[in-house]
Amino acid sequence: MQRPYNFSAGPAAIPEEVLQRAAAEMLDWHGSGLGVMEMSHRGKEFVAIYEQAEADLRDLLAVPPEFKILFMQGGGIAENAIVPLNLSRAGTVDFVVTGSWSQKSRKEAHKYAAEVHTAASSEDGGFTTIPTPASWQLSRGASYVHICSNETIHGTEFQELPDLKALGSDAPLVIDFSSHVASRPVDWSRVGLAFGGAQKNIGPAGLTIVIVRGDLLGHALPICPSAFDYKIVADNHSAYNTPPTWGIYMAGLTFQWLKAQREGDATGVAAMELRNIAKAQLLYDFIDQSSFYVNKVAHHCRSRMNIPFLLQDDARNDAFLAGARERGLLQLKGHKSVGGMRASIYNAMPLAGVQALIDYMHDFERQHA
Ligand code: PMP
Repeated sequence: MQRPYNFSAGPAAIPEEVLQRAAAEMLDWHGSGLGVMEMSHRGKEFVAIYEQAEADLRDLLAVPPEFKILFMQGGGIAENAIVPLNLSRAGTVDFVVTGSWSQKSRKEAHKYAAEVHTAASSEDGGFTTIPTPASWQLSRGASYVHICSNETIHGTEFQELPDLKALGSDAPLVIDFSSHVASRPVDWSRVGLAFGGAQKNIGPAGLTIVIVRGDLLGHALPICPSAFDYKIVADNHSAYNTPPTWGIYMAGLTFQWLKAQREGDATGVAAMELRNIAKAQLLYDFIDQSSFYVNKVAHHCRSRMNIPFLLQDDARNDAFLAGARERGLLQLKGHKSVGGMRASIYNAMPLAGVQALIDYMHDFERQHA
């Protein structure tokens, strides 16, 4: 039986092989007599799962040794507080606001930073573009610069991370990469800290991944909760408090799946990137040649992961969604702040799923244009 194609923005589709493997191991992990959810986080079985997941993630994303990988909880929204609690040093923080998620992050930072400065924003244009880094008004001596490298709701993505040094800033770059982690390589030479919830590209909700350069640890504000102090989390190998063990296990299975992916000579994340480029291109090309559907995002910063599109006549939205469901194309409704539709095509979405969506969009257009 073929499962439907799931276009949810998150929690999102998980590779079927990963779900099958988790199902097979549910009652008894590797002959231990225990299911993963029932294991002590300090026992040798779970420690092996954790160490393998961390090593595989480091390998997949080519994370340099000076960076720590932390498995935390609270999602991207908690990180909006945890980052300034650890990195702001009660000074000035810079934000580049390119959509709802960076906007939310900026709002939360006000609670912890002495000054929150907007270095650039695309709000006036309805978040349909990313201002060119050369135009950013970065502050002198900022504690960090925050961007959301893929805006899940508005569908904009940095195709290249900004080089803050070249822009005259010594501040570390913080990226919220929740919705495109592991879909493309990361240039760690430009990053101080990356955070992301797992529930889009990595596994179930409940696990938050933080990858942070070692020199940024140990500067938390005194009010920072111990469980959220990156140095304490790092010193305790993410087990200062009980970590989200099931989420780490599922992420680990996804990492193994990712490592096995191949496209020509490319493997792992490089293979995923090729596939993601092809999938996004197919859908954008179809939308752009149609006068029935529209995507308003500037071409240079269109997301490969989250593709919002409107029907020219939004009175047809409900019929479109109902017809999609009948064809096994699920969770295409757009975010309420943008309206219309959104196709989230993360790593687990095969090209065939995107093609099935396009075939449906084509048929719907023919019937209703
Ligand atoms: N950042 C981005 C880019 C997101 O897409 C989301 C969730 N959609 C969040 C942060 C918030 O994540 P959570 O709800 O897990 O806190």
